[in-house]
This record gives sequence, C-alpha cells and structure tokens, in this order.
Amino acid sequence: MTYKEKYDFLVSRLAEVVDLSRAAAVLAWDQQVNMPRGGMKARGDQLATLSSLAHARFTSPEIGELLQDLAAYERELPYESDEASLIRVARREYEKETKLPAKLVTELAKAANDGYAAWLQAREAKDYGVFRPALERIYRLMVEKAQALGYRERPLDAFVDESEPGMTIVDVEKLFSELKETLVPLVAAIRERLDRVDDSVVLKYYDKDAQWKIGLEAVRAIGFDLDARGRQDLSVHPFTTSFSPDDVRITTRLREREFTMGFFASLHEAGHGTYEQGLPKRLERTILCRGASGGLHESQSRLWENIVGRSHEFWEFFYPTMQRYFPEQTSGVSLDSFYAAVNRVQPSFIRTEADEVTYNLHIMIRTELEKAVFDGQLAIADLEQAWNDKYQEYLGIVPKDPVDGVLQDIHWSGGFGASFISYTIGNIVMVQLFEAACREIPNLKAGFAKGQFAPLLHWMNDHVHTHGAKFQPLELVRMATGAELSARPYLDYIVTKFSALYGL
Ligand code: ZN
Repeated sequence: MTYKEKYDFLVSRLAEVVDLSRAAAVLAWDQQVNMPRGGMKARGDQLATLSSLAHARFTSPEIGELLQDLAAYERELPYESDEASLIRVARREYEKETKLPAKLVTELAKAANDGYAAWLQAREAKDYGVFRPALERIYRLMVEKAQALGYRERPLDAFVDESEPGMTIVDVEKLFSELKETLVPLVAAIRERLDRVDDSVVLKYYDKDAQWKIGLEAVRAIGFDLDARGRQDLSVHPFTTSFSPDDVRITTRLREREFTMGFFASLHEAGHGTYEQGLPKRLERTILCRGASGGLHESQSRLWENIVGRSHEFWEFFYPTMQRYFPEQTSGVSLDSFYAAVNRVQPSFIRTEADEVTYNLHIMIRTELEKAVFDGQLAIADLEQAWNDKYQEYLGIVPKDPVDGVLQDIHWSGGFGASFISYTIGNIVMVQLFEAACREIPNLKAGFAKGQFAPLLHWMNDHVHTHGAKFQPLELVRMATGAELSARPYLDYIVTKFSALYGL
C-alpha cells in the first residue's frame, strides 16, 4: 500500500470508531430526554457494549501498525494539514488508551458506578461520611491511572492533559493565582453593596410554555440552526450532544420562579451547539470532528451566554421581545434595571447557579482541594472541612449542609483530578477570542443591539470551529488571537463590567 492508501485505510477504520461513539451518544441523549426510568439497566448494558466495541476497534494492533507506518508520511506533511493533524491526534489518543491496563479501566468503571450510588446516598443522608470510602477508592485508582498514563511533573498533569491537551497544573495554577488576586477583593467589595441591584423581576412567576418559546427565539437569533440541523428538548441537567454537525441536540430546564435559569441555559447550550454545527464538513466522521478541548467548548457556550446574552446591547435588542412575552412581569421595569437584574452578583454555595464574578472562585476552590490531595497535604477524610474553610475565605459564606458543600457536584463520584478546570479556562479564552473578533470587525458589539450576531458567529466559525480538534488549546488560542493564553483580558472585562454595575 502507498502512504495515501494507508492513510485512507486508517481514516475508514477510525470512521467506524466515530460511528460507534455517535451511536452511543444517541442512546445517552435518549436516556436523559425520553427514556422511562425502567430502561436504566438495559441502557447501561447497551452503552457499555458500544463503548467496549469502540475501545477494542480503536486500540487494535492494526491501528497501531498503521500509525507506525504513517509516521514518516506525517513528517512530510505540514503540521497544520488535516492529514498530519489526524495522524497526530490519533496517535496521541492511541497511546493514551493503550497505556491503561484493562483491569484498571474496569476497576475505575466499577468504582465510578459505586461512587455514584454512594454519592446519591450521602446526599440523601446529608452525610459526607457515607461518600468518603467510595471517594477514597476512586482517588487511589486515579493515582494508579496517573502513573499508567504518565505525566510531565506532577500526577495531576495527567488529568489536566486529558481535558486540556498540552497544558499542565503549573499553567493552571498561574491562571488561578492571577484570578484570585483580583476576584477575591472584588467579591468582597461587591458584598458591601449587594442591594444596589434588585433582581426581583426575574424571580416573579413565569409560565413555562412562554419561557420555552422565548428561549427558542433567543437561540434562533444567535444563529443556532433549530430547523434542519438541531433541536432543543428538556432534561434534568442541560447539556449538548452531537451526532453530526448536521444533527446537534441541546437541552434546557425551566423553573417557574427563576427566569434566568432556563433562558441562560438555552443560550449556554446553544453556544456549545454553534461549535458543533460549525465543525467543517470535510472533517465529518473523523476523530477531528469535535471541539479542541473542554475549555474551548466552554469558551463558546459562555460567550453566547454571558458576553452576548448578558450584555446591555443584547437586551437593547431583545427586551421588546421580553416585554411582549411577559408584559405583567416587566411592567414598570426599565431596560437598565432588567440588564442589572440578569447580572446580579450574589455569593452563593451552588456553582451552577453562580454569577459571572463568583463563578471562577467555585472552580478555584475545587481545583485547590484536588491539588492539595494529590500533593499529599490533604486527606480525603478532611475534604469537607477544607471545603468549608475555603468558602469562608473566598466567598465569606459556609454551607450548613454538605449537599450545598462538598457533596454538591456529581464530578467526584466518577473521578477525582482536575475535574473542573475547563470551566475557568473557557471563561478566560472566551474574552481573548471576543477581543480578537472585535479588533477585526468594527462595531461588533454595537451590532448586538440590532440583532446582528452573524458576524461574531462567522468569526468563530472561521477562527475556531473550522479547525475541529486539530490543535491543542494553547496553539488554537495563539492562532486565533495572536496572543498567549492569559487571564488579564478576562479580569479587565469583569472589573469594567461589574464596577459600572455596582458603582465601585
Ligand atoms: Zn457548558
């Protein structure tokens, strides 16, 4: 076989792996959107079978040989070409997946399964002690996993690299220490004047049908294709999944007395959805047909949720629609007050409901705790106390009950290690990308007030989405913005926006 024939053969073998995982994604979507509870056991079996088939196909010796044979071909090709990138990314993942002993993979899956059950029980009992043994077991296995995968300097690097390829925990620490320096005092200053913003307008009663409809209008307005290539459904936890760039599913959830929850969940997931719909046709059915990393994906969701959806310009455009749908609720509420209400800062326990200013502190707390455990400075047994101490230190509040504290997130029930960093990296990247787009497109933000969102979407299509998973996050940020990843632009954005709102 010539190189070209071998390459095509590799692509066709990997396409089957992609098909298997997309089929699993359909089943997982159905599980969360349609499936009656009784389907749980059967669905679990079906998903496990598909994932072991995909794993077996991907890690077969045949793929290993093809990757080896194609090494010379890859060197001849330009780094940024689709072909070289596909071989490079396939090799990286092949090496990762073949490094993990089958026994460890099975044990981790079991520990995650038991961990989830223990986590639910512990929440029920409001007792961290019920979850602790399961978490200790998960942590021990994660240490083994880090050893098996290998890492640059510290075990946590293995997990940082899994969600943000090419990055290390030292990179993450640097970003967080910059954030902490500015955000902790900013939150403290805002806490002194919380009453400057009244958000009672969004806490009135909002009919769920009308919320559903206005959410769809907003999603459509920002350019997520709801007609031929996407749809929205309801689920307990909002999420986005994709079976092809031409078939992208988003979900939302609605609460009658909390307008912002459903509306911004729709915008957030539609942001993820624009990434998936924006992936180029030429990469379809390849392993490159997906986002570059968790952080890059979050940069898109948060861009549409926050930079666009929580901007004054957006509401100049959309408030008349809001008033049309909800004349009673918005009666006597000015545009400025409504804008302030959807941006209200409130130190709270729950990460997923946090405002833009406090959000990263929630992530920082979790990451610092993971780091302390992996560095041997904190025992899993003391995690609850350490959690509460950090909430006191950074947000000035202490959860009364572990359900609002250490038992809050599902993440640690299935793994422990750099589980949250992508959310914050997403925030940081979001501002860098937006500023780069603003430099190239005159009056970009002013256009939002006229409902002009296509220029921003097209910029993201051309500078981010078109590359799929070809590049690592740090490479992609450099290519799209001409700068290195930095927390500075994000902090400037936050300080400017919220100093104005709170008169600081
Ligand atoms: Zn998201």
